[in-house]
Amino acid sequence: MFRVGLGHDTHRTTAGKPLLLGGVEIPSDFGLDGHSDADALLHAVTDALLGAAGLGDIGEWFPDTSAEFAGANSADLLRTVVTEVTVRGWRVVNLDCILFAERPKLSAFKPQIAARMAELLGVDPSVVNVKAKTGERVGPVGRGEAVQAEVVVLLEMTP
Ligand SMILES: [Zn+2]
Repeated sequence: MFRVGLGHDTHRTTAGKPLLLGGVEIPSDFGLDGHSDADALLHAVTDALLGAAGLGDIGEWFPDTSAEFAGANSADLLRTVVTEVTVRGWRVVNLDCILFAERPKLSAFKPQIAARMAELLGVDPSVVNVKAKTGERVGPVGRGEAVQAEVVVLLEMTP
C-alpha cells in the first residue's frame, strides 16, 4: 500500500535571523521570520509526511500559539513526526521538493540540503530530490518578501 502526501509553507524574510532551509544554514544577509526557527522546507516536509499518513497537519501537532514551540528546532519537530509515521508502519519511498527564493542562489546547497533531509528521514540521499526556483521577480517570492517550499512524499506500508 502506498500513500502520497503534499506539503507547502511560506515564511516572511527578515533581517537579523539565520536562513535555515532543510536543516542547513544558508549564508545570507536575511533570514526567515516565524514562531519556530522558520525552516520552511522542513515544515513542508513535516506536513507532507503527516498528510500521507493521514495524521493532520503541523499546526495541530505543534501549535504556533504554544510557548512550548517558540524558537523550536524544526529538525526536532520533523524527527517527532518521522517517529510517529514509522511506528505506524510507513517508510519513505521518495521525497521531491521545490524551494522558491529570489535569492540567495540555492543551487550550490541542494546536495547538502538533500543529505541533511535524508539523514533526518532515515533514508538514502538518492531518494531525496531538491529543486530550487526563483519567483521571476514577481509576487512575494520574486520581490524577496518571502521564501516558500513545496514537498511531495510517497510512503509505503512495510510488510
Ligand atoms: Zn513554517
